[in-house]
Amino acid sequence: MDSNRITNSFSDIIIVGAGPAGATASMFLSASGIRHSLIDKAIFPRDKICGDALSGKVLPVLKKLNPDLIHELLTKNENCIGSKGIVFGAPNGNTLDVPFRAVNSVIDHDPGFVSKRIDFDYSLIQQLNPEYCKFLQGSEVCELDYSDNGVRIKVRHQDGKEEFSECKLLLGCDGAHSITNKLLGDEHKLNPKHYCGGIRAYYRNVKSMHPENYIELHFLKELLPGYFWIFPLPGGLANVGAGMLTASISSKKVNLKSAMLNAIQNNPSLKKRFEGAELVGKIDGWGLPLGSKKRKISASNMLLCGDAASMIDPFSGEGISNAMYCGMRAAEVAQKAIQGNNFKGDFLQQYDDLVYNRMWTELKLSHTLQKLCNYPSLFNFVVNKASRNETFRQTISCMFDDMDLRKKLRKPSFYFRLLFG
Ligand SMILES: Cc1cc2nc3c(=O)[nH]c(=O)nc-3n(C[C@H](O)[C@H](O)[C@H](O)COP(=O)(O)OP(=O)(O)OC[C@H]3O[C@@H](n4cnc5c(N)ncnc54)[C@H](O)[C@@H]3O)c2cc1C
Repeated sequence: MDSNRITNSFSDIIIVGAGPAGATASMFLSASGIRHSLIDKAIFPRDKICGDALSGKVLPVLKKLNPDLIHELLTKNENCIGSKGIVFGAPNGNTLDVPFRAVNSVIDHDPGFVSKRIDFDYSLIQQLNPEYCKFLQGSEVCELDYSDNGVRIKVRHQDGKEEFSECKLLLGCDGAHSITNKLLGDEHKLNPKHYCGGIRAYYRNVKSMHPENYIELHFLKELLPGYFWIFPLPGGLANVGAGMLTASISSKKVNLKSAMLNAIQNNPSLKKRFEGAELVGKIDGWGLPLGSKKRKISASNMLLCGDAASMIDPFSGEGISNAMYCGMRAAEVAQKAIQGNNFKGDFLQQYDDLVYNRMWTELKLSHTLQKLCNYPSLFNFVVNKASRNETFRQTISCMFDDMDLRKKLRKPSFYFRLLFG
């Protein structure tokens, strides 16, 4: 360790939650030689209800930490499989295969991955560095409030004992049902127009999976704006689930579990694929706080990351990469705060700027796409046209990585050219 490194106390910075957001923040803090505590109520390996798909946006964060991690955690990990693209299923049952195509980068491995969260999150935990990270598992933060010196938390340990701790900076990485984001008042209160409900199941032996492990999003009419998914996993398993905007779940009185099982049993394009398939375990649900609304994600002595900061992509439902990006940026700002001994809200505001400067354009565009899903006939039309037109298919393929192309989807001229082009 070089002599300029900071010598701080483990309690100066406390991270609550050791999912992708918290584990990433911890790894970056350790890489900068900053001591901190990481607290999670679960004991790892632990499950997290999720589609388990890891987009290519996870890669730059891992690469920044250590390029070898991409191979260790993803390409050479038997619990993880590479995916080369997406199948879109339109409401009328037609499908469109769209390969992932990184526009500005050449890579020597698959562009996307799928790994059960029980495995992926544990592989992140195994990278924690005990020299800088004091990791407490099975300990729940059950109360928190501002104190004279920062934030005071009450932690309930596994054996029932309770303890108070104080920190100068708290990183709230405690997921969709966050307690830490309550310190920002009503800013992160559940808003059904910016929140999604999701359920997940594991099935064995689903037929006709894509030979190159494409993930599948089926935009069934009864689930719009939302979708039914089938994501391939190692060992003949598939992650199968459904998600829908909470406002629509209420207004259309949808029971997600029944809608999903109904699609599996009766949807003409899906039912044959599930004949003989076996449900492994039970069907579980969890919330998705969407990033379709800009919110404050810092305050004095406090930074929020990942789901606690409502950072899930409102179109794809993808939140792991955004959580890891937040964790990385939070560690950077935490380092500056420790160096300058400044934990005031106006100093920490730079974290909001860093995160939203990188993510807001994308989140806003995805919100527009989510709203377009309210028009099933438009969806059918785009998929029909694209399946017959190679150039258009390539345009959609690049759209996942190219923001300028995505912006085209918002313009009426795009549909005009599609119609008459
Ligand atoms: C059904 C569903 C499908 C999804 N599919 C995908 C997908 O395919 N791809 C994708 O990228 N994203 C997907 N997401 C979103 C993704 O799961 C989240 O965005 C991601 O888990 C966010 O990571 P995080 O670290 O912010 O939170 P989490 O992963 O939720 O981690 C939070 C951690 O905090 C701990 N914690 C919570 N409260 C406390 C407390 N009081 N004290 C101590 N510890 C606490 C928890 O135990 C947990 O370990 C899906 C979500 C759902 C619900």
